[in-house]
Amino acid sequence: MTTVHLGMPLVRAPRGVGMLREQEPFPAAARRALADPQLRANIRRATGTIRDKRQRMVDEVPDWEQLRDAGSALKAATMARLPELLVQLEEQVTARGGTVHWARDAHEANRIVTSLVQATGADEVVKVKSMATVEIGLNQALEAAGIAAWETDLAELIVQLGRDRPSHILVPAIHRNRAEIREIFRREMPGLGTEVPADLSDVPAELAALSRRHLRAKFLSARVAVSGANFAVAETGTLAVVESEGNGRMCLTLPQTLITVMGIEKLVPTWRDLEVFLQLLPRSSTGERMNPYTSTWTGVTPGDGPQELHLVLLDNGRSATLADEVGRSALHCIRCSACLNVCPVYERTGGHAYGSVYPGPIGAVLSPQLTGVQDNASLPYASSLCGACFDACPVKIDIPRLLVELRAQHVEARAEEHPVPSAEAVAMAAAAWTMARSKRWVRAQRASRIGRLLARRSGRLPALPFPLARWTSSRELPVPPEETFRDWWARERG
Ligand code: SF4
Repeated sequence: MTTVHLGMPLVRAPRGVGMLREQEPFPAAARRALADPQLRANIRRATGTIRDKRQRMVDEVPDWEQLRDAGSALKAATMARLPELLVQLEEQVTARGGTVHWARDAHEANRIVTSLVQATGADEVVKVKSMATVEIGLNQALEAAGIAAWETDLAELIVQLGRDRPSHILVPAIHRNRAEIREIFRREMPGLGTEVPADLSDVPAELAALSRRHLRAKFLSARVAVSGANFAVAETGTLAVVESEGNGRMCLTLPQTLITVMGIEKLVPTWRDLEVFLQLLPRSSTGERMNPYTSTWTGVTPGDGPQELHLVLLDNGRSATLADEVGRSALHCIRCSACLNVCPVYERTGGHAYGSVYPGPIGAVLSPQLTGVQDNASLPYASSLCGACFDACPVKIDIPRLLVELRAQHVEARAEEHPVPSAEAVAMAAAAWTMARSKRWVRAQRASRIGRLLARRSGRLPALPFPLARWTSSRELPVPPEETFRDWWARERG
């Protein structure tokens, strides 16, 4: 496949805005998460439930593998012609009464949305769940301009009222349990004018009913809505959002002005292509055969729904990712979250440790690609490379391969910046030297038997001294076997 150019300089996501960068390296943040048993229990329970449901729904589909192949091929073909498809989308949206804005990065997107809201005279907006707007820090930008942004997705609302950060693609409040959610509602809702019953329990139906009362007032008063988009159909300029609660549909139909912020990779060429993704997405994300609500809208219709439609096409590092022939497949992601739910690392640390709105295996790839690998340097290492994410991904993104590629990029970038080699580089060079000659390797294996003596009492090897302690602080060294494979071979077959 050839390199794709969008005709813009290859900008990365800028610093100082949005939620795309780790505040501290993953190992430090993960260590804190691992010390929180409540957090680990919440995440283990939730991911386990979704994982089982997904498996049941996937097992029902006889041609699941062919569907995955089709999704993967469609995404690759779309990325190869993304520039022309984006122009087609712009023409179609414009022809149907919408306005298209191009945003190079988070700052530009925030400026565009803020000025569009200001032009309506509104001082509040309702929001459909949108990861792109969290990525660019839109709520904070609107707040700085005196505009209140109300999240209407229940999980996003919990995160917003808890002054928290999302920790999962699909269930942003997955790290909270019911009792914690009740406490957030009791504390925050009265200040927003929503009466909270004195005997509010933590039964999900009661919590949902309370949030519904709170949100209904917002739906009826807001004149502007901001949404993301799961898909955009280039041939007709149609935008699509899939959701479970119906709150998105309220935002998409009631306000006068609708502003959609969409990453440029969310495109599909035709309506027919949607057929594949609308089968893959719900089964992989919520473990359902169909999304309860699938909303599509095309331009504006006089007298029906929003009368003003703006589409903000967001780059923020995507064209730079697209230009990377190996890394561009990360843009195939349809944000189903299946890779998070099967990841042993995510299950133990939760999403906050990744520091980005995109956590888990795909976040460990996508965030460094959007920001440049130096700005999220520890994320490509936040994986055991077990491959479970690849097996679960409905569009067959080879995440382990991308992680290895990013690790290589990081090692090369570091080597350029630091002429003194790291302990790891020295260890790798020593290993390469040893393995390059059979005699050296055999001698090294014999020497390693000394480890058996050290492990005789405890059955484990002791931690190594610095600088090798950086390896053994989080891993156990295997005790050398009594007999090497070479010795076994010589004994049995020699
Ligand atoms: S990488 Fe694949 S499994 Fe993970 S969220 Fe994206 S589409 Fe889903």
